[in-house]
Amino acid sequence: MIDSDVIVIGGGLAGLMAACVAVRRKEKVTVLTFGSGSLPLASGAIDFYNSKFPETAIKNLPVGHPYYRIGLPAIKDSINFLKDVTARANLPYTGDLSFQIPIVTAVGTLKYSTLIPESMDASLLGDVKKIFVVGIRGIKDFYPRMLVDNLKKYFSNADFNPVTFDLNLLGGRDINCMDAAQMIADNDELFINELKGLNATPEDAIIIPPVLGTTDNSTRVTVKTQLHAALIETTCLPPAPTGVRLQRALTKYLEDNGARIYKNANVFGGVVEENRITGVVTKNSVREKFYPARKFILATGGFYGGGIVMREFDKPHEPIFDLPVKYIVGEENWSNPKLFADKPQGFAATGIFVDSKMRPIDSDGQPLFENLHVIGANIGGKDFIHEKSLGGIAISSAYKAATI
Ligand SMILES: Cc1cc2nc3c(=O)[nH]c(=O)nc-3n(C[C@H](O)[C@H](O)[C@H](O)COP(=O)(O)OP(=O)(O)OC[C@H]3O[C@@H](n4cnc5c(N)ncnc54)[C@H](O)[C@@H]3O)c2cc1C
Repeated sequence: MIDSDVIVIGGGLAGLMAACVAVRRKEKVTVLTFGSGSLPLASGAIDFYNSKFPETAIKNLPVGHPYYRIGLPAIKDSINFLKDVTARANLPYTGDLSFQIPIVTAVGTLKYSTLIPESMDASLLGDVKKIFVVGIRGIKDFYPRMLVDNLKKYFSNADFNPVTFDLNLLGGRDINCMDAAQMIADNDELFINELKGLNATPEDAIIIPPVLGTTDNSTRVTVKTQLHAALIETTCLPPAPTGVRLQRALTKYLEDNGARIYKNANVFGGVVEENRITGVVTKNSVREKFYPARKFILATGGFYGGGIVMREFDKPHEPIFDLPVKYIVGEENWSNPKLFADKPQGFAATGIFVDSKMRPIDSDGQPLFENLHVIGANIGGKDFIHEKSLGGIAISSAYKAATI
């Protein structure tokens, strides 16, 4: 018996987004996934394209690019949808395709992104008089003085003040931002008192690591209402509370709306009848289980997520449906030695090519299956490192696949 309208395979950013869109359309949704996906490793900011004006850049992309296949209306709708779901979870996001917003990295450089948590918006830093950079004793890899040295290059007119609070969070060990965010969410009194002690005015800004809770904006609201200055969270090393908050907001939306999420479900094969998928099979140490549905969305994360594997060089492989994977031929073209160079990385373009309904296509451009859609990092034809487009492709391909 078919008891799911849609099965989403993979619960990273793309899979969770596709499931949320399908649930909003009143479809019965099942998510089959394992592992955490890359959201806890990421900043929670969603990059669309490495350009001052992403919309203009995206409009000019060639036919084979995923954004061309998705189309501008669906890309814009995906942004609005994500803003709506995050706002409902009290995790407001800001931004649109027409411009980029600066966020402060953990080392004090500025990174520009399209769709970001409000708590990271650093747009106002150019106008403030004094910038406090606050570290917390015990948090690894966050050095206020280093941030100040770097930030001075962008905001030479501001007066900088690096400080470190001792919140007694450690008990002798190093902590990460997730630990600190949880501890401050549980008891924010000492942190608020220290922040108040800065005597920052409405003309100032306070930059902190991302420690304002692990779920939503409630800790930030409590803290902010007791301060006069703007409060800005930076990125941090993983695990990142800002990425985890987004993961939790999307998951909560699914749970509140009746989607089923199986978190230890490793899909290893699909059942095909003519040009349709009728079901997928999961396997654990005890048994195999068959999940039928009308529609399937493959969001298994490309190379990073395990959705595309390569045991032998020049033989990338999609392990569930054995879909064709396109790649750049020749080892010498596969990568360029500088990861963040200004030239493309061959391996990053590797992936499954799709039509405008996000269905995988054969070498003649024809869809291989009527009811299978491929999204997120699985899609080929982009250079996500050079373009900084992975988050944007994830949510917009998810939106398109779920609304087809
Ligand atoms: C370190 C890091 C930092 C990043 N920073 C940013 C950033 O700043 N801005 C930005 O826009 N993007 C960033 N990204 C990218 C972004 O977070 C997502 O990786 C990207 O959007 C792709 O998402 P995805 O859902 O396609 O894949 P993933 O997030 O990798 O999710 C794929 C999921 O599918 C599961 N899966 C795989 N195979 C199976 C199977 N057979 N059965 C069941 N489940 C399976 C995996 O376990 C995983 O949970 C970052 C990524 C990483 C790794």
